[in-house]
Amino acid sequence: MATRDYYEVLGVPKGASEEEIKKAYRRLARQYHPDVNKDDPNAEEKFKEINEAYEVLSDAQKRAAYDRFGHAGTDPNFNGGGGFGGFGGFDFGGFGDIFDMFFGRGDDLRYDLRIEFEDAVFGKEMTIRVPRIELCPTCHGNKAKPGTPIKTCTQCNGTGQVQTVQSTPFGRFSTVRPCDRCQGEGKTIETPCPECAGRGRVRRVREINIKIPAGVDTGHRLRVAGEGEAGLRGGPPGDLYVYISVKPHRLFQRTGNDVILEQTISFAQAALGGTVEVPTLDGKTELKIPEGTQPGTIFKMRGKGIPYLRGSGRGDQLVRVKIEVPTKLNSAQREAVQKMAEAFGEEVVPPDKGLFGKVREAFGK
Ligand SMILES: [Zn+2]
Ligand SMILES: [Zn+2]
Repeated sequence: MATRDYYEVLGVPKGASEEEIKKAYRRLARQYHPDVNKDDPNAEEKFKEINEAYEVLSDAQKRAAYDRFGHAGTDPNFNGGGGFGGFGGFDFGGFGDIFDMFFGRGDDLRYDLRIEFEDAVFGKEMTIRVPRIELCPTCHGNKAKPGTPIKTCTQCNGTGQVQTVQSTPFGRFSTVRPCDRCQGEGKTIETPCPECAGRGRVRRVREINIKIPAGVDTGHRLRVAGEGEAGLRGGPPGDLYVYISVKPHRLFQRTGNDVILEQTISFAQAALGGTVEVPTLDGKTELKIPEGTQPGTIFKMRGKGIPYLRGSGRGDQLVRVKIEVPTKLNSAQREAVQKMAEAFGEEVVPPDKGLFGKVREAFGK
């Protein structure tokens, strides 16, 4: 059964007083009572409709819900089946779903974006190309070829909803569902829009500018409100969610808001101390190495890490020292190292024997 507006059913204005509603109901109930309309097959249906309208409009609470949410607001199946008892405190979480159902908020979209390490560190404005469903630009979503008629759906009288009432041992339950003739639009068209083939929405690749905030990391999600898919029946669009993944860096390894850098220094630098040039996210910077630095020592360069996404400041850069042992020496270098060994009181290995010669000698072979 199509559900007409309850005020319309009783023939009263929206702001009608309780008394006016009662009067209208009595008059109509008498007029359409099945007992006095045995010849009219529609009278019973009409009588039911009048009763239903009166049931809602005569109850201040139900009427308020109806004024606010239409037929959906009077459906006992909503609000967890609690019926009107549950309307005392409005549960907007639940009503959100009802609105979605009737006004068709567009779907949220997920877009996976892989960004450079530096862009995650410093942030970047960029343009992404997002395939999505948009409102048809030709018919603006009304599905009809421009200039062709759009009519009120005769099945639902333009409400877009059909209500069915079921009698059960627990009482009467009404269910509201979108009208199948007009797909809940409340309107029917004669000539479909050629651009969208009467769907009202089209698939488009849209360029969207986004701002990557400084400090994002893999797994972060940016919400771009209203850039999801177009809604149905004039409903709002969904949101776009950009899921970030960050490419690894050649030199830096991220840990929270700190970056770790492995820096190789020479034995001489480690032993004597000095200044080495190290890369940072801001470019090359000098780092002081104290005399006698051991392999694996970590130096902290404050504020050279990654900006905090919320709040201010940056993490640190941690420099882990590796000490380079030369793989090949020329004769001058070899001599120098030998001299150094001698100075440290180590046994000098003749150049022609090398390490393995020395080992063999030690084992008497
Ligand atoms: Zn169209
Ligand atoms: Zn309809």
